[in-house]
Amino acid sequence: MNTKIIRTISEMRKISSNWPTSVGFVPTMGFLHEGHLSLIKTAQKDNETTVVSIYVNPAQFGPQEDLSDYPRDLKKDIELLAELNVGYVFLPDDGEMYPKNFKTWIQVEDITEIMCGIARPTHFKGVTTIVNKLLNIVRPDTIYLGEKDFQQLIVLKTMVRDLNMPCEVKGCPIVRESDGLAMSSRNIYLKGEDRDKALCLYKSLLLAQKLFSEGVQDLELIRSQMEDIIIQNDGVIDYIAFIDAESLKVVDELHKGCRIALAVKISGTRLIDNLQI
Ligand code: AMP
Repeated sequence: MNTKIIRTISEMRKISSNWPTSVGFVPTMGFLHEGHLSLIKTAQKDNETTVVSIYVNPAQFGPQEDLSDYPRDLKKDIELLAELNVGYVFLPDDGEMYPKNFKTWIQVEDITEIMCGIARPTHFKGVTTIVNKLLNIVRPDTIYLGEKDFQQLIVLKTMVRDLNMPCEVKGCPIVRESDGLAMSSRNIYLKGEDRDKALCLYKSLLLAQKLFSEGVQDLELIRSQMEDIIIQNDGVIDYIAFIDAESLKVVDELHKGCRIALAVKISGTRLIDNLQI
């Protein structure tokens, strides 16, 4: 089947009102990389039909953030999706997604007010609202999300659970560059030596894991060693969080299965990463 490009909500709804097969959905903001593609390949393995959306959602960017600079290359994205034989690519526009009389927002409490929610207080409200809208329009059986945005994954799982949405949420592992940098559309902002410095996120996570495996349980010691690596690389730490992987609650003690998540700015580019212990 050729990849079909869908540009309007009404056209997408017409198709989704009568899916004959199981449908996997991968929402993205485009500028696709191997991280996105791994989600898409998993969706294709699990389902007869796959839908990918590309939409840079203005509601999840703060007023001082990079909405207008966010990297875009729709032509290349569509080529990549056609090569993968993706069934449907949904490309809604702002006018349809947020018409002038738009008044309804979806908000998950508590777990959106920690970690990334502190520096980005309106971000998750934008994410939950757009994903809710997309799920209503696309009506998939399963939505595929990356563990790269771990807090987002848990927030969206919580929304689907609390609102009894008829959809499974599947988290997919982080895809990294060969040196360990987590793939991200925003990595394009990292010029020259900033690209190397950005490795400090992953290096600090690996160090934490090593310390834990050697029996170190003092979280402040682990935190300060992570901070040292990041500061040596001129990173500005937003947060380092030791969290329970299901509740996102801060843990007093590391145990197997919990996560370390962090956000760091490298020359103004905000990067996030996380690792399961
Ligand atoms: P974005 O286009 O950045 O909004 O990301 C769309 C989806 O791709 C989200 O579910 C992300 O978590 C996921 N994603 C982005 N980068 C990666 C990565 N390096 N590995 C796995 N999933 C990713």
